[in-house]
Amino acid sequence: MSTKDKLNIIIAGPPASGKGTQCEMIVEKFGVVHISTGDALRAEVAKGSELGQQAKGFMESGGLVPDELIINIVKERLAEPDCQERGWLLDGFPRTGVQAEALEAAGIRPSHFILLDVPDDILVERCVGRRTDPETGKIYHLKYNPPPEDPEVQGRLVHRADDTEEAMQKRIGAYHENVRAIMPFYSNLHVKIDGTQEKKAIAGSI
Ligand code: AMP
Repeated sequence: MSTKDKLNIIIAGPPASGKGTQCEMIVEKFGVVHISTGDALRAEVAKGSELGQQAKGFMESGGLVPDELIINIVKERLAEPDCQERGWLLDGFPRTGVQAEALEAAGIRPSHFILLDVPDDILVERCVGRRTDPETGKIYHLKYNPPPEDPEVQGRLVHRADDTEEAMQKRIGAYHENVRAIMPFYSNLHVKIDGTQEKKAIAGSI
């Protein structure tokens, strides 16, 4: 299979649209490399690296980190051999016209663009109950997708600092703006999926 036949997917969806869960399922089925810029940035913040320190304030307030902090990291990551060999699933990037342009300029075009669609009011409720297991990377919802009863897992669950209602409203607003900025680049590739369906049904649609 040539590089051209590889699955190179961009997935977009508002915060708490179920994007993380669908990414896990896509990786399992197609073996592509999952690159989440949100996860990568959170790892840098946790490490206390220079990038992490620069990004932290923007992230906690629900704003975007500046384009110049993130563009090169993504371009370099996509050029690595695993991405070239297995194809990739880019999650959370591009989020601005400048980021989409940077990919185009580097000759990086997806084969598919998936947009997970969920109404705003549902997103806020989902988000406030969301918890992540930092050890496995698994994402739960206290009501809709409860974590295992295991006290060890429950004890280490994290509620992200930007999963509050206030930061969430800001992130949803920013998301709509971001999608408007990047859609013109991918209008011929994009598939809209109803993200309110049950997770297996969403995976089936994808
Ligand atoms: P996410 O987990 O994708 O919601 O990302 C969490 C936070 O990381 C966002 O609210 C931004 O502050 C930052 N971030 C992630 N991806 C990007 C990006 N492509 N451009 C700018 N900031 C980003």
